Amino acid sequence: MNRLLARLAMMTAAMLAGPVLAGPVQGSPVLRSTPPALTSTAAYVEEGPPRAVVERRVIGHSVAGRPIRAWRLGEPGRRRIVMISTMHGNEPHTRQILTSLRDGARIRGIDLWVIPTYNPDGLARHSRRNARGVDLNRNYPYDWVDLDGNYESGPRPASEPETRAVMGFLRRIDPVRVISFHQPLNGIDTDTKDPRFARRLARALRLPQTRLDCGGVCHGTMTGWFNARFEGSALTVEYAAHPTRHRMTAQAPRQLLRVLGASRGNAGAS
Ligand SMILES: [Zn+2]
Repeated sequence: MNRLLARLAMMTAAMLAGPVLAGPVQGSPVLRSTPPALTSTAAYVEEGPPRAVVERRVIGHSVAGRPIRAWRLGEPGRRRIVMISTMHGNEPHTRQILTSLRDGARIRGIDLWVIPTYNPDGLARHSRRNARGVDLNRNYPYDWVDLDGNYESGPRPASEPETRAVMGFLRRIDPVRVISFHQPLNGIDTDTKDPRFARRLARALRLPQTRLDCGGVCHGTMTGWFNARFEGSALTVEYAAHPTRHRMTAQAPRQLLRVLGASRGNAGAS
């Protein structure tokens, strides 16, 4: 009998001492247990109600040493999607789409990674190219040619640390879709690996369906490389030079989630 009582007392003590998980406890301070790490670089957002971010990574560094950051949103295990913007530093507006997705409520239905600022040195200098003057979207090791001037393609394929960072990241994630946001050509290239999705996306984002041929032939582009080497498909989305803030922060995120079959859950909902 005494033994049983002692056992019960021990169990009760263990339950009381156990971790108190965040939950819909009204009006009381919320304690959080330490969640299991997904990877060595994983980090949970520790503050506030459940938000979109479930993991974050530094995937590499720019020429000038700035980190290139990726955030994982949504539900791991679902269809993997990657969205990238600011590959050209003088196209600064579309990253608001990605930061709005990142900073909002939890996303459900897809496993989404966003890289809002692919070219941080270019963004800091308001330059299309990176700190060595290379156009990252001509530097990929697929159909690379030696280009100069505005489309400077670098001394050799994948010569730039930013290119190698994103190549390594895409290899690890192996997404079913990559959506690459640019400006200012105002359209979606429907002459791509997955034209049906391109047309759907153009309608959803209210952008014209067009052909983006890089002013001639596309060489060494990220989407060209990805489409040739991966099962998934990569697509370029071009907004105009001055999209409204409302379009970038409210409309486009909502339109993207809808066309991808995703939704935003209420904080705390399961
Ligand atoms: Zn661009």
